[in-house]
Amino acid sequence: MGRAAEKAVELLDKYCIDNPAQLELEVIANAEYLIVEEAPLKNELGRIVYNEDYGLIKISSRIKEPGMKRFTLAHEIGHYCISKGRKLNKHGCSLENLTTFKNNLKSEQEANIFAAELLMHKPWFSDFIRDKEINMELIKNIASYFNVSVTAAAIRYAEIGQYPIAVIMSKDGKVTWCYMNEYFPLKFIPKGYFLRKDSIAYDYFEGKEVQETPDLVPGIAWFREDYKCTKEMIFWENDIVMPNYNSVLTILWEFDG
Ligand SMILES: [Zn+2]
Repeated sequence: MGRAAEKAVELLDKYCIDNPAQLELEVIANAEYLIVEEAPLKNELGRIVYNEDYGLIKISSRIKEPGMKRFTLAHEIGHYCISKGRKLNKHGCSLENLTTFKNNLKSEQEANIFAAELLMHKPWFSDFIRDKEINMELIKNIASYFNVSVTAAAIRYAEIGQYPIAVIMSKDGKVTWCYMNEYFPLKFIPKGYFLRKDSIAYDYFEGKEVQETPDLVPGIAWFREDYKCTKEMIFWENDIVMPNYNSVLTILWEFDG
């Protein structure tokens, strides 16, 4: 386990928290001498200023989803726990900082790892998903059980879930980011990749209803640019639409039939 995840586990141990329902972030923040307030931040979702003894966290009042708000707060607490002891420190965290995996500052990446471990502690997560089939229904159940966004739940599943999945976010008909489990057979979808007709997510951007149940799609629907993708490859695809962002979140997993 990396240092950032260890810090999250230390915090859970310190407050004897053994299930997600007990995890009251603001209470923990206060106990750690962190004041939390909502504020109309301009370009950031969250920010923190702290010295050796205490700190102030501001969470953007523009965040609507409780899951996103919670992740942002966990992320800010992460900055504090990871580099506590510094004389004075501050971080301003944009949406990009909170959702990017590559090309992100190390401190931002670490705060994200901390937040994922704190909110979806690995043993809790493994218990929850054990013997459950992978599909978007499960991802939604994870999100509601752990009180996180569907996106955070899907990424966590891709990291430590039972089956290798790919998580893809598309907006305005193009891929904005993707995250694959290390054992998922294909890896490469370029940013800005135009969705193809043979994917299910495509339907949404054509103004059609997107089916809620998983269905099989050809691998080239998503991995046309991946040289390892062959015509024979097929995957299960399952989507959830996010109309407020004109976005679709997709998960893919291998067809083993
Ligand atoms: Zn940050």
